Amino acid sequence: MELLVIGLDGLSYNMLDRFGIEPEFIDRVTDDGVSGDLMSVDTPTTLPAWTSFQTGKDPGSHGLTNMITQAPDYETGPFETNTTDAALYDFVDDAVVINLPASVGRRPAAENTHLVSAMLAKDKADATPDHLQDLASYEAYILDHDKSKKKRPSVYFNHVCEITERRRDFAREAFETYDPRFGFVLFSTPDWAGHLLSNFSDDEERAGYYEQLISVVDSCAADLAELADNVVLMSDHGFEKKTHNVHLNDWLADAGYLEVESEAVRPQHVAVAAAKAVGKRSDWIYEQIRRVYNYIIGTDVGQSLQAAAESEVDYPASQAWELRYGCVFINDERFDHPSVEDPAALRAELKTAIASITDSEGNPAFRDVLLAEEAYKDPGEWAPDLIARPAPGRYPTMLDSPTGEPVSPTNNYNHRYRGLIAAEGPAFEDNETVEGMSIVDVLPTVLHVLGQSQSPEFDGRVREDLLTIDREVTTLNHDAVPRPRVRSDDTDQDDRDDVVESRLEDLGYIE
Ligand SMILES: [Zn+2]
Repeated sequence: MELLVIGLDGLSYNMLDRFGIEPEFIDRVTDDGVSGDLMSVDTPTTLPAWTSFQTGKDPGSHGLTNMITQAPDYETGPFETNTTDAALYDFVDDAVVINLPASVGRRPAAENTHLVSAMLAKDKADATPDHLQDLASYEAYILDHDKSKKKRPSVYFNHVCEITERRRDFAREAFETYDPRFGFVLFSTPDWAGHLLSNFSDDEERAGYYEQLISVVDSCAADLAELADNVVLMSDHGFEKKTHNVHLNDWLADAGYLEVESEAVRPQHVAVAAAKAVGKRSDWIYEQIRRVYNYIIGTDVGQSLQAAAESEVDYPASQAWELRYGCVFINDERFDHPSVEDPAALRAELKTAIASITDSEGNPAFRDVLLAEEAYKDPGEWAPDLIARPAPGRYPTMLDSPTGEPVSPTNNYNHRYRGLIAAEGPAFEDNETVEGMSIVDVLPTVLHVLGQSQSPEFDGRVREDLLTIDREVTTLNHDAVPRPRVRSDDTDQDDRDDVVESRLEDLGYIE
């Protein structure tokens, strides 16, 4: 194999440093090859980021800015695969792609290229083309974790280690059977484990479990790397410790931009309201509430509490709201009941006001508040009006504030923008550090390593500073860009939605 890209979902160097983990293979590639931080996209979440990886476009262009979508009638729904933009498996012939999120329903346009999709598939048969289901290791291949195992951390971490090893086995057999020029495999488990870290309250316990998993991921990555001349390790975003939650919808409600639906009082609302009132006065109770919050954010347990802890936004009556991870939408003509006469004026007003939100000690909640055209090269109609990028250690959540303040303390782990990239082999520089690379640059760079031309539609660019290759970058004509194809048997999007919805809930994306 000429080139193998190994995805390590949610892994970043700061997490290895924090827990004192020194994975042998990842460290070797990092030190001997070219490496650095890899910037994710807005929002730095798994499906938008892997869509950017596979298309070389930012979410403003491919249209999938968030883990959930909102329709003109304000209904939110799960993410669906992009079907309009050419992707990696359309450009690269003779490739085997294992476990690529946000690709279900797509059929490679490239010759002799095989695609096993991931996260949005209904089950593993839905994710895997028939001929790959014939591989001996398919039987033991596990697409997704069993979330019921999360109740016992030792059981869960053994489970994710097993998933990692079986994925390695399946990928190895697929690579050996098809002997591709290019391979991709994603290990999702660092992301799943990262979310679960929120359930522990001390870092020592976290470190033990996290190290257990990372050492398995590291040795599985090393096993597969033996099959390739050149290897790229990369993640779609990083993780970090969060010390504060930011409750943008609480702030928008207090400032009069957002209306909450008045509804019949339900018993769990009363319980949460009472707990909130007490939590303002007692640190001990506040800590108990915090744990419940982390549980809600990190796991599937407590769905009824989750419903209680999040106010229902009265969208038609609101001027603006947050839809997840700092994305603010203004109730303008895109929606069925627009309430804002001058969206541009409100955008400017909110940009300044949101940037000034601080915690009680005066630390800013956000590092930056961007307009869509500042965050994206060519934002589509449904891009968020504003993207509030959280300050380090801050996490923007849609859950109600337990203190009533827009910023509340937490002890949690969640996504951050910076992931990692490390590459070695004859195509890559030795002992170099790369700076300012974005996930949208990966596909252009991969194509250049493989001797192929660029798409004129890419937002990313070839990062020649990583490469020993001295060849001019060439670009295809517009009419030579491959047309995306969808699976002809792909009629089951509706029953896929239920599965996907529960999976997104499980990972805390639907709050
Ligand atoms: Zn991810």
